[in-house]
Amino acid sequence: MRGAWRTIAAVALSLMPLFLSSAEYGEAAGTSKATKARPGSSPEPSKCEPPKFRIVVDVGHTPESYGALSARNDPEFGFNFRLARLITAKLKSEGFAATRLLVTDGKARPSLLKRVSAANDGRADLLLSIHHDSVPDKLLETWEFDGAKSYFSDRFSGHSLFVSERNPHFIASLKLARIIGRQLKEQGLTYASQYTLPLLGRYRHALLDKDVGVYRYDGLVVLSQTRSAAVLLEAGSIINRDEEMALNAPGRHETIADAVAKAMGEFCERR
Ligand SMILES: [Zn+2]
Repeated sequence: MRGAWRTIAAVALSLMPLFLSSAEYGEAAGTSKATKARPGSSPEPSKCEPPKFRIVVDVGHTPESYGALSARNDPEFGFNFRLARLITAKLKSEGFAATRLLVTDGKARPSLLKRVSAANDGRADLLLSIHHDSVPDKLLETWEFDGAKSYFSDRFSGHSLFVSERNPHFIASLKLARIIGRQLKEQGLTYASQYTLPLLGRYRHALLDKDVGVYRYDGLVVLSQTRSAAVLLEAGSIINRDEEMALNAPGRHETIADAVAKAMGEFCERR
């Protein structure tokens, strides 16, 4: 697994000169001073034509600053890359020919604003940031995997969607997040409901749609400072031992990618 991830990361680095997104947990802590959105900088097209609709599928984190570590010690970046690449392919095959996969290298925090600037310069109509979830450190338990002390938490599972009210296209972002959430629900997937719990402390978020699991998360740079609509998808928990296995099996990522592509089609039709 780790070798495979290194290969993927190397390929990613060699292929893409691009920028990227932000993070959850510790890396999000530095984002509270996010500047105000710049309204009017990217007017929404009056209608959505799939071949011209510029979707940026952002691979969360970088090979060097890889995000969470799974219960079996695989970096989140590898999960994000695999799923984002699949989503990009599905979107293209559904007619969204202007979809781009966005991968960045370097350390997370210093690159945040640079990434957002670069994404904005690309005049995207939509940024979709792909992540996989973990839990705050205080909830971690230990086990032995592959002869090494490792960390897990089987307490929570599921996907979740995040949008920022500071995004200049908050309403459109929320609309898309809800459509994605509904598509995931129709596939029989259950969203992660723990973000409303006091136990989550500073990681608590307001639940904007309790039916399909859309949360408000204003502090994330990637959501609040992009000029396009922006949605962050936590595709599932890799710190949960069963869900990590499910996410490593090809079926789950296929299901999620299909749901996202279908949701984009529906979102576009409604505009
Ligand atoms: Zn992440």
